[in-house]
Amino acid sequence: MTHSPSLSPETLPLETGGDTTKTSKSQPILVDSDVSGVKCNGGNPALGHPEVYYSFDNDFAVTCGYCGQVFMKKN
Ligand SMILES: [Zn+2]
Repeated sequence: MTHSPSLSPETLPLETGGDTTKTSKSQPILVDSDVSGVKCNGGNPALGHPEVYYSFDNDFAVTCGYCGQVFMKKN
């Protein structure tokens, strides 16, 4: 007489780290180091904000005053 297991272990694929496909506004956008400025409209013409231009001047990063998006120069 054989007892077949009534409960089979669930094999749920657990994704543990490594995959950073989630979109986050805190994720800085990297731009080439030779650009003098960036334009931002919130990333979406419908849900964003009026397009504004930010100059890097002597900084290596700027933050959009509308949506908080950070633009960072590449090294
Ligand atoms: Zn913005």
